Amino acid sequence: EPEKPLRCSQCQKTIKDCQKTDWKAHKRSVCTKPAIFHKLDKMMSKNPVMAGLQSFEQAAWADRVRNPQTIGACDGCFRRFRGFPPREEEEEDENTPDAGDAFKHCQDCDWTICRDCSHPQAQGVPYFDRPAGTCRCPTANFGVSYCRSTPNYLDGDGRKPYHGDRHPAMAGSGYSVASFESQERECRTCGVSARHLKKEHLKDALPGIV
Ligand SMILES: [Zn+2]
Ligand SMILES: [Zn+2]
Ligand SMILES: [Zn+2]
Ligand SMILES: [Zn+2]
Repeated sequence: EPEKPLRCSQCQKTIKDCQKTDWKAHKRSVCTKPAIFHKLDKMMSKNPVMAGLQSFEQAAWADRVRNPQTIGACDGCFRRFRGFPPREEEEEDENTPDAGDAFKHCQDCDWTICRDCSHPQAQGVPYFDRPAGTCRCPTANFGVSYCRSTPNYLDGDGRKPYHGDRHPAMAGSGYSVASFESQERECRTCGVSARHLKKEHLKDALPGIV
């Protein structure tokens, strides 16, 4: 019997080897995130400049939510909306097409995007870009709670993924009945009573894709 605890080569977490099932689940889910991004995360949080920039951006955003103003440009692609003049820092180029009208606005976090930014192909590189179609709320996207749908790597506040409770309708979810807990319980995100996806599926990138 090995005496050393197992250590994950990617996130460096150790798991007691008696918990073989936990280990399997960990390899299956937690470590779908490529090693390079584990490293990037660590670098970002340890680098005072990067950490400072992030908290500055968060503070600026909190200020915007407290003092709502007319939103003249898309938060995803930064193009101005139809009818808004170019900002001062922009080159005045009549040929640059605008982003059309605002397409989605989150009443909770103020994230506002154009139609183009809502398209699946406009969501950028996972873990690297902030997905344009994902608002800044941690547990919901544009007011729709993540717990009601199947896991999706785009879900979260745009930086930190949502790995909380999920209770999608079983039929058509892409998960078998065995993937759900056997008993109903209260959702820790929205409070409704339902059968939930088992923990080992909460970090799936998409149903069936880990
Ligand atoms: Zn790991
Ligand atoms: Zn846009
Ligand atoms: Zn929001
Ligand atoms: Zn829920």
